[in-house]
Amino acid sequence: MTSLSPNCARCPYRAAERLCRKEEGSAPDFCPTVNKSGLIQQSLSEYKNDPALMEFARQSSIQESEGYANREAGYENVRPAMTRIEEITAFARKMDYQRLGLAFCIGLRKEAAVVEKIFSARGFEIISAACKAGRIPKEKIGIRDEQKIAMGKPEAMCNPVLQAMIMNEEKTDFNVMLGLCVGHDSLFLKYSEALCTVLAVKDRLLGHNPLAAVYQADSYYRCLR
Ligand code: SF4
Repeated sequence: MTSLSPNCARCPYRAAERLCRKEEGSAPDFCPTVNKSGLIQQSLSEYKNDPALMEFARQSSIQESEGYANREAGYENVRPAMTRIEEITAFARKMDYQRLGLAFCIGLRKEAAVVEKIFSARGFEIISAACKAGRIPKEKIGIRDEQKIAMGKPEAMCNPVLQAMIMNEEKTDFNVMLGLCVGHDSLFLKYSEALCTVLAVKDRLLGHNPLAAVYQADSYYRCLR
């Protein structure tokens, strides 16, 4: 890592004044908009050379703006218009997807049942798979008894590779992840052939809202800083 390594998270300028927002904007030394012209062009070529990718990106961008109401009144007056589950539904319709995969954590089985109904009621075919499907014992991946949640008992591993394989075999158009653990989500993303989106991530302590700790990093969660 050098002093020129990209670090947008440390950009000192107001969002509206940044170079990535306007041509005459300001940029720090480490700005990738200034230093990464080769990659910028390469990324654009990826879209241009792949019509399906281009269409996915185009519809994502349309969905992004439709997530705001009141756009006619100007940027300062827009307001959020859709929940994430509504956005997923709207985006899937835009892409003309018929068959959605729902890869969920067994700990969120009640939520998964509700989500499945919501999607089904909107006309999608749903293929769903829980993380414990296949019931492979944790010992098979080298887990010792003291490394289990319930020590002294049989415990099935979470199997995101299987979840992805199920979706792949069923030829889902788009996969929705619900509450997969850190790392398990990574493996699902690695093995899924269809593109994926996340409805919710897992945070056992914070009701699956990891930003609650971030929002309170100056107060109750100051230990994190
Ligand atoms: S791209 Fe440049 S201007 Fe934009 S946030 Fe990153 S460092 Fe700041």
